[in-house]
Amino acid sequence: MSKGMILATTLEELRAARGLLGAPLGLVPTMGYLHAGHISLVERARAECASVAVSIFVNPTQFGPKEDLASYPRNLPGDLKLLEDAGVNLVWMPTAEIMYPPDFQTWVNVEGLTSPLEGAMRPGHFRGVTTVVAKLFNAIQPQKAYFGQKDAQQAAVIRRMTHDLNFPIEIVVCPIKREADGLAMSSRNAYLNPAERQAATVLFCALNAAQAAYAAGERNADSLRQAMSDTINAEPLARLQYISCADNDSLEELKTVTGKTLLSMAVYLGKTRLIDNFILGE
Ligand code: AMP
Repeated sequence: MSKGMILATTLEELRAARGLLGAPLGLVPTMGYLHAGHISLVERARAECASVAVSIFVNPTQFGPKEDLASYPRNLPGDLKLLEDAGVNLVWMPTAEIMYPPDFQTWVNVEGLTSPLEGAMRPGHFRGVTTVVAKLFNAIQPQKAYFGQKDAQQAAVIRRMTHDLNFPIEIVVCPIKREADGLAMSSRNAYLNPAERQAATVLFCALNAAQAAYAAGERNADSLRQAMSDTINAEPLARLQYISCADNDSLEELKTVTGKTLLSMAVYLGKTRLIDNFILGE
């Protein structure tokens, strides 16, 4: 490729390419079907690192049995074009057999932080995430790794794992990229039909309603949750799965908002499950 972007599939190819890259190396782990949110992580890595690696791997172990692994959107040619244009040095695209050979039996599990929120709704999800990210860290050995605030709990869990397992890697969490109408960019937005796509702005509206209440002085967490659920429930195409007003570090539900607070939610639009969040008190 023209700017010298190296493509690797096997571990041998990865290791050979890894040796050619200058330090510090920044890693952006993804599941592909890339959008401007992913590219914002690449750009941050580009700005802070001598070289940038991106992994594309739809990780089967983080999907539940009834989730969308089989239908997860894929567009490898489009992804590679975006990454080449963004100046990425190395793309690793391992197969499921490379990551999980038949005799695979080692898992990485973060305990407390994975219990609430996404962890409660998606049993086993974070065990899959932390296992694959630990494998990516070991295989690629970056100095920095970039994650999105879009997946707030995931970022907190990865930070915990990185610290607890002494990976010498700095975790950088980047802001949520949104469409013009406020919808957080997500590969799963591709599932939405036009009516659902329009209705999907309700997550952003709900977060704004709670933020407005907070700005007006509301500190009762139930009132903030109520402001969010009222907004979601007013949209006929939306079905609320959970709503949360939690301490940003422990992720424990709050009675009263004092310090840095994570407002988050999961909402179904038809069969598509979307998540979004704001931080209060930054
Ligand atoms: P995924 O391909 O969905 O696993 O996402 C790969 C990385 O991109 C994760 O760290 C996500 O949090 C991040 N990401 C996804 N969507 C966005 C977004 N809209 N803004 C910023 N980062 C994002």
